[in-house]
Amino acid sequence: MSTPLLQVRDLHKFYGDRLGCGDVNFDLYPGEVLGIVGESGSGKSTLLNCLAGHLAPERGQVLFDTRDQGLVDTLTMSEPRRRLLARTDWAFVHQHARDGLRMNVSAGGNVGERLMAVGDRHYGNIRAQAIDWLDRVEITADRVDDRPSAFSGGMQQRLQIARNLVTGPRLVFMDEPTGGLDVSVQARLLDLLRGLVREMGLSAIIVTHDLAVVRLLADRLMVMKSGHVVESGLTDQVLDDPQHAYTQLLVSSVLQV
Ligand code: ADP
Ligand code: MG
Repeated sequence: MSTPLLQVRDLHKFYGDRLGCGDVNFDLYPGEVLGIVGESGSGKSTLLNCLAGHLAPERGQVLFDTRDQGLVDTLTMSEPRRRLLARTDWAFVHQHARDGLRMNVSAGGNVGERLMAVGDRHYGNIRAQAIDWLDRVEITADRVDDRPSAFSGGMQQRLQIARNLVTGPRLVFMDEPTGGLDVSVQARLLDLLRGLVREMGLSAIIVTHDLAVVRLLADRLMVMKSGHVVESGLTDQVLDDPQHAYTQLLVSSVLQV
């Protein structure tokens, strides 16, 4: 088996006295999609934000297999180094597209900006790649100069995905990527995401309270409750034969999430 892309050890994050997430341990292998499920307030976003370097946990290690130095703890690395990794190796898809887009910059600019951030300086090349990526997320080239504020929620989310994937990240974090959308729009976005994940062989961590999302996208699942991982395993195994009482409740939709 290959080296894990990410190894998380004994991670704890508190908000004052309140536990955000605790005792989290897992490995993520290249090309693997990990789903994190659990009811609202179970610690999913806290964990994801700790992994992505947006929050500083009190305890633990987040070891990432960097291209140049192998496994490095992203929690203790310098801030400039972490910011560089965030631009080159990681992507973060927010639930609300406005948190992940620049709303006053054109669609093409939103995608092109990420390319410039990793050193691309050739205008024609940037524009061509932007248009290619808009096409891949089913936004036609005639919208390239429109601002995201003129887009529907589903289009904004597809644009956010294009902006994130254009630089070929090695690890994609997603927090409720379909959460704010109408059901019909969700299905189309999920289809698109599934295609891209497979085609690009992406490693991803997807937080959601929606079991249909992980059923479609995730190879493995972690189930969280009150900040702790209560069950983990292959997605189909966990959903078809849940062992923990809480997972059984989740699967039977008894829990209002
Ligand atoms: P989820 O994403 O699963 O809904 P969160 O990670 O947002 O859960 O929250 C986990 C726990 O941490 C909850 O008890 C929540 O109230 C608490 N929490 C989250 N963010 C903050 C914050 N900024 N300040 C204080 N407590 C927080
Ligand atoms: Mg959340």
